[in-house]
Amino acid sequence: MLRKIFSPDPFKVFYLVFTYILAFSLWWAYLLYAKNETAYKEKIELNRIAYHQLHPATDYDASTDFITVSAKYSRQRFMILGEGGVFIFLLLLGLLAVRRVFSKEMQLARQQHNFLLSITHELRSPLASVKLSLQTLSLRKLDAEKSERLISNSLIDIDRLESLVNNILFAAKIEHDEPGFSNEEINVSEITQLIVERFARNKKAIQVIDKVKPDLYLNVDPIGFSSVVINLVENAIKYSEASTTISVSLADDNSRVYLIVADNGIGIADAEKERVFGKFYRVGNENTRKTKGTGLGLYIVKRFVEIYKGEISITDNKPAGSVFKLSFPRILAK
Ligand code: ATP
Ligand code: MG
Repeated sequence: MLRKIFSPDPFKVFYLVFTYILAFSLWWAYLLYAKNETAYKEKIELNRIAYHQLHPATDYDASTDFITVSAKYSRQRFMILGEGGVFIFLLLLGLLAVRRVFSKEMQLARQQHNFLLSITHELRSPLASVKLSLQTLSLRKLDAEKSERLISNSLIDIDRLESLVNNILFAAKIEHDEPGFSNEEINVSEITQLIVERFARNKKAIQVIDKVKPDLYLNVDPIGFSSVVINLVENAIKYSEASTTISVSLADDNSRVYLIVADNGIGIADAEKERVFGKFYRVGNENTRKTKGTGLGLYIVKRFVEIYKGEISITDNKPAGSVFKLSFPRILAK
């Protein structure tokens, strides 16, 4: 209970403080306004009496004294209202700015927390399953077919672990635009083909249609490029039915090389199409999501495309699913 009182929702405290400052300022402005009016009226009454003693036959309201005192009162009234208005305007502006920064920080903290939870799970489950497979293999004499299955499942788990670790390392590296990225000329067709074949081998239920034009070259970091293709293909599989068809194509024209990964999966709503590239961003919330992940994959893809001056777009596939289209200039100046 005490802990709850001493660690209240920061947003509520923030609004409470803001409301207090606003109410406090409005109250003081009102008091000042009212006091000014009273002082004006009293001054006019006193001056009127003094004036009539000196000039009994003249109307005080037409005198220069009345005009001067009234003008001063008007100025003061305007000053109180004007300064109060400016203060409240600046206060609101400040509120909006602080709220924006605050929400961003809270969102980042939440995402980092989710990231830690998901990463723990992502590391633990393949490790546990590889350990179990190895223990089974070492303790029992299994027939060739069973051993083969255990080994191939373990290899899939190790692939998952490898791509997870690569993503984390890569995200840290790519965030700071490190000069560690090479731009050696590499055969991107070969890399894409190898990755597609590996996925097709590991995920038998998935049909991968590849339309990879041979011998296309780009001056990019080979590990970075592999990571981009792996992330896109992995997503296409992960966010689709267990048995589905995905298509990976690599093509070119005079000036650019295009990498297109299309799936028939759950698709991405228009409102999410930009957000999915955010670091740690995952669509939906932790309780309703069925898939596991860190939200780093598309962040890496987007940063890679930016570093190599490429372009990326997401469109809807027909009848369902998404199409990720990347293009890189043939002559790449990093
Ligand atoms: P990981 O870091 O393990 O890749 P992730 O797949 O959740 O985790 P991203 O690859 O960055 O992270 O994708 C971000 C989000 O975008 C996903 O959580 C998913 O909601 C959505 N998304 C990405 N690719 C697709 C796709 N092909 N179809 C539908 N939704 C997708
Ligand atoms: Mg992913």
